[in-house]
Amino acid sequence: MIPFVREIDPAYGRAVAVTPLVRRVTANNPGPFTYLGTGTYIVGHGQVAVIDPGPDLPEHLAALLRAVKGETVVAILTTHTHSDHSPLSHPLAAQVGNPPIYGRADPQQGSSEAEADSAFRPDVEIADGQRVSGPGWTLEAIATPGHASNHVCYALREENVLFSGDHVMGWSTTVVSPPDGDMGDYYASLSKVEARDFAMLIPTHGPPVTDVRPFIAAYRNHRLDRERQILAELAKGPCTISEMVPSMYAAVDPRLHPAAARSVLAHLVHLSRSGVVASEGAPGPLSVYRLA
Ligand SMILES: [Zn+2]
Repeated sequence: MIPFVREIDPAYGRAVAVTPLVRRVTANNPGPFTYLGTGTYIVGHGQVAVIDPGPDLPEHLAALLRAVKGETVVAILTTHTHSDHSPLSHPLAAQVGNPPIYGRADPQQGSSEAEADSAFRPDVEIADGQRVSGPGWTLEAIATPGHASNHVCYALREENVLFSGDHVMGWSTTVVSPPDGDMGDYYASLSKVEARDFAMLIPTHGPPVTDVRPFIAAYRNHRLDRERQILAELAKGPCTISEMVPSMYAAVDPRLHPAAARSVLAHLVHLSRSGVVASEGAPGPLSVYRLA
């Protein structure tokens, strides 16, 4: 079982201290994928960075401007371009003197995916390992594809904590939805974060994860359990994703079953590439799968 952490007062509109160097302002956009809302993080004091400005909500912009009143925003960073993370970047930048925006553009620009912020254009397309710093803080980009191909986490080196975006979240597993989401990449990105031995993970949604190693191990085991469940279903005979999801996800809110189906597809793409599973043609949402 994943030792989920869900205890958090969103305190909408107010800045809440998370660590000595980090404050959070939560946007009022709760939902099945955002938990109680998007946590926007302010790093440092006086000259600050803002991570994941969030959805383009006027009251969230106003709350961020209140939170940094009297301070200078020297950098805006985004973990990825889903619509609950990046859209407020440009409006916020315009209000605080246009500091550089760091992140990675939507790789499927122009795609019709509703959750993608294809209008996002970073000033700096951030590279793995690149650092952005201010007085008393240094952020290091860690490319972590999987949930999204352009996902980047940021390590705050002075506190050995990681802004983990949607890569690792305390309240829930993350959605990995092909083609932009990739389960093989996701496993590799989990190992990449695990190897760094962070003292705390600070996800965009929900409270921080403080017991990092056991949490990541449980997170990975949960995925491996899903793989085993899929293989057990296929051992009974060829079947489709829509035939597997209701029994595999009986304990999960049915509103999340479409997303779960995307995760099952991500597993099947990964298992197909690994040569364990086969389908007619390329593995897709409607394919009939069988053991290879
Ligand atoms: Zn996301």
